[in-house]
Amino acid sequence: MSIRLYFDFRQIQYFLRRNYVVMAVRDILLLGNSGLYEVCLPVAQEELAGLTGTVEDLHDTLMDFRARYGAGRAIAAPQIGVTKRLVYMNIDGPVVFINPVIDVKSAKTYELWDDCMSFPDLLVKVRRHSSCRVIYRDLGWKKCSLMLSDSLAELLQHECDHLDGILAVARAVDSRAFALKSQSAFFK
Ligand SMILES: [Zn+2]
Repeated sequence: MSIRLYFDFRQIQYFLRRNYVVMAVRDILLLGNSGLYEVCLPVAQEELAGLTGTVEDLHDTLMDFRARYGAGRAIAAPQIGVTKRLVYMNIDGPVVFINPVIDVKSAKTYELWDDCMSFPDLLVKVRRHSSCRVIYRDLGWKKCSLMLSDSLAELLQHECDHLDGILAVARAVDSRAFALKSQSAFFK
């Protein structure tokens, strides 16, 4: 994983420099915005250069959110109003998932309180697969696949849902699955 992340970082830096990108923090679409319910279109290889700014904006917007909320591991393009199948993750380093598809899911599942940059004050109890495999293209249009487990697996399931217009609130396990973060002392 660390080797791949390093490679992606170098690749992303090159990609951005080559295309002279101006950085920008974008407004994050919030719960209720109809743009969050769109099914995103696949990215074509010819579109890669045109998406340079989107990748940088996703990075800047994620970092800005993290600075303000102390959380945020990944962001999907539709959350900044770009209806393309693109996810930007930054944990130990940046990883760009183009046209990600989860093609293998474990039978084992578990429940967790999920959150989202599109509803930063709300927690939703959802059920996710404990592990999964995601296949995707990187910025060099290379086919990649990653086996993920636990927190990374649920993160990618959350992000790939965004690309289909599905929010975590639509995955709530029952009618008591919603809580404000400020009330966490009562339900955790
Ligand atoms: Zn989200």
